Amino acid sequence: MIAEQYQKLSEKLSQASQSGLGPLKGAGPVQMMGASKTHGEATLRAAIEAGITLFGENRVQEAKEKWPALKSEFPNVRLELIGPLQSNKAKEAVALFDRIQTVDRESIVAALAKEMDKQGRHIPVLIQVNTGEEPQKGGVSPAQAPALIKYAREAGLRVEGLMCIPPAAQNPGPHFALLRQMAEADGLCELSMGMSSDFEEAAKFGATVVRVGSALFGSRA
Ligand SMILES: *Cc1c(COP(=O)(O)O)cnc(C)c1O
Repeated sequence: MIAEQYQKLSEKLSQASQSGLGPLKGAGPVQMMGASKTHGEATLRAAIEAGITLFGENRVQEAKEKWPALKSEFPNVRLELIGPLQSNKAKEAVALFDRIQTVDRESIVAALAKEMDKQGRHIPVLIQVNTGEEPQKGGVSPAQAPALIKYAREAGLRVEGLMCIPPAAQNPGPHFALLRQMAEADGLCELSMGMSSDFEEAAKFGATVVRVGSALFGSRA
């Protein structure tokens, strides 16, 4: 079931990524991430067996319960944080994840930089941009993003790109276009954008990671 879905979605993804604006300079091929929040070990195993090697989790605590054993069993699996991060979880996050996509303020940059030095584990990050400027949503505002990117670089973080979650009720195209434009302006090439309902649209705008949950795994309980 997951294997079939993955194959179908992968075909759509590769077609979409060939039909749009093309990747940003320096970008690798687009990858489908399994956004696996709420799903348990049996589903994760099925996904890994289907060939998915990139996963995203929203909560540090949940990821810590689900992933360490699987990650040592399948060393090629990569795990990224795609949900909000609190400074007091920076230590666990640096130890567990291979990339953090949700850096959105200076205090998190500082906490991560300190932990990476302490652990000698320098994982890359993305800056989350609140393209719709929604008050309830994480992410730095577009206007403040360039300063945060600079701050993160100066703190020693490896900033690879940008991530966004457009407002649910809006056409996502303009948000994807904005994120692309912002990345280009700052010399970044990784774009994490697009979910089950709009990953093809995101791929047309040059997404390098689409985060797909329900379309791969079925609806969440
Ligand atoms: C849950 C989640 C997804 C996947 O959402 P679907 O609509 O189920 O594909 C993608 N990105 C983030 C940040 C999420 O929390």
